Amino acid sequence: MPIPGHIDPVPIPRPQALRNDKLVDLVGLPIGEIRALLAHAGLDERQARLRAKQIWHQIYNRGAISFEAMSDIAKPQRAWFAERFVIGRPEVVVEQVSTDGTRKWLLKTPDGHDFEMVFIPDADRGTLCVSSQVGCTLNCSFCFTGTMRLVRNLTAGEIVGQVMLARDSLGEWPSLPEGRMLSNIVMMGMGEPLYNFDNVRDALKIVMDGDGLGLSRRRITLSTSGVVPMMARAGEEIGVNLAVSLHAVTKEVRDEIVPLNRKYGIEQLLEACAAYPGANNARRITFEYVMLKDRNDSDDDARELVRLLRKYKLPAKVNLIPFNPWPGAAYECSSDERIRRFSEIVFDGGISAPVRRPRGRDIMAACGQLKSAAQKKSRSELDRIAADRQAEIEAAS
Ligand code: SAH
Ligand code: SF4
Repeated sequence: MPIPGHIDPVPIPRPQALRNDKLVDLVGLPIGEIRALLAHAGLDERQARLRAKQIWHQIYNRGAISFEAMSDIAKPQRAWFAERFVIGRPEVVVEQVSTDGTRKWLLKTPDGHDFEMVFIPDADRGTLCVSSQVGCTLNCSFCFTGTMRLVRNLTAGEIVGQVMLARDSLGEWPSLPEGRMLSNIVMMGMGEPLYNFDNVRDALKIVMDGDGLGLSRRRITLSTSGVVPMMARAGEEIGVNLAVSLHAVTKEVRDEIVPLNRKYGIEQLLEACAAYPGANNARRITFEYVMLKDRNDSDDDARELVRLLRKYKLPAKVNLIPFNPWPGAAYECSSDERIRRFSEIVFDGGISAPVRRPRGRDIMAACGQLKSAAQKKSRSELDRIAADRQAEIEAAS
């Protein structure tokens, strides 16, 4: 039975608005589609195939952002392309750098919606946290993004465009097989990636394509709050590492903090994890667990977590995430001592349970702190949203 309100996805996401300049953006389109567009614009089949291949290489290997830069195409033809097509990038509104080196970009779509992307550098690698939607329908109560309504799904071009923008900024063109700063991608920015399945899949296919951005699927992780019916397809059609936002081990608590749990319960979710194609001991599923003071952080919770993961024989690791605060949040982070104890219990149960070090908190770039600038709300608005959410919970139960 569908649950009214924000628990069920918007069934028909608002389509992408046309660009004002009416040019067609080639970023995010499969190579076959580029070829078809070139043929439709007037090139013969052979030319269309050849030019599509060259353009693809220029976009994804060389990082070209204009046809003018494509020296392997004759000048008059470059101009012909520029009259019809464009190689888009999300527009950068602001870029911020944290004291710990984390970078956050506020980006804008051509139709004026803003969203965020974060880069987290480490000594010898770096992780890009990519958004899949502007806003989120799911309203997890501890997540700042969840206080936004869903504005729209990002297109495949806007998703892959984030990775390309990060490469621009890091100076990582042409695509190199090894030694990149941008070495890993996590679909953990704004939005629920499995509610924007086709675009996320199409974007990640380009990211993983050896002739595209060439990142191994082992270096990509998709995080879901538990959209059970889409998990098998994610394994089959995308095949990246899976992270699951579990966050609680009882129905009562998970219903409250991850409202989607009222639709797909914990047992159903763990069954879907056990069936996830490609999960094995070498490629374990990550269970994310946000540490909320006095809500989900007791010794009993930790023991129940071990029991559940064992019951389903899951090749699992647990990622303990200290709660990152945001204005108006109704939760507090568990104490360091509590997090350490929780981690020990899970570890003693035979499951690795590292604590994720918060990064970029000073610029609101840490997990769950992303939100469009235009959507940052006042305290009174947040209170109203909390009251609405409570009314929805009551109506649905
Ligand atoms: N929608 C997807 C992916 C984006 S959220 C999902 O929910 O899995 C990425 C991770 O950050 C999720 O595990 C999410 O639950 C967690 N998160 C959200 N708000 C947080 C907060 N305030 N502090 C710490 N982690 C948070
Ligand atoms: Fe959406 Fe994930 Fe935030 Fe939940 S935790 S509101 S699913 S972005």
